[in-house]
Amino acid sequence: MWPFSRQWTAPSPQHCRCARHLDDALLATVLPRAAAWLHEAGEDVPPTAIGSLIDHEELGVEPPEPGGEPDEELLEEGFHYSLWLGDAARLHYDDEATPVATVLGQHRGIRKAQQEDREIILIKAPRLCPDGALTALALSLADPRVRLARAPD
Ligand SMILES: [Zn+2]
Repeated sequence: MWPFSRQWTAPSPQHCRCARHLDDALLATVLPRAAAWLHEAGEDVPPTAIGSLIDHEELGVEPPEPGGEPDEELLEEGFHYSLWLGDAARLHYDDEATPVATVLGQHRGIRKAQQEDREIILIKAPRLCPDGALTALALSLADPRVRLARAPD
């Protein structure tokens, strides 16, 4: 018999334990720029809403659908989702501030969050559905702790 972890598939929103899912308010939430980018951005850069980042695949989750299975290797390491942060998402957090993975790891339903590389964070979150996992990522990016209060000197 396979160990339980190997049978895991992403729960559906009817069977998950997410604290929140993507909703209109969250999708419309506009993210401030990180301090490191404020100088370069100029003033005519339009603000970025979370929904826009998701539409442009700057924020993503794998597996993306309920019933989906993660990479077997990932499961063996005890993770369920890999979350994706693209280049445009990077404009909204500072490397010197609290890491996005740290904030993410404090969300209900996420037992562990590990920065895999610059663009990927792995999470151990067996009871979250893909939508809820993406929501947690979006909320972490909206958390002011991931940005410095002012630009570094
Ligand atoms: Zn859910």
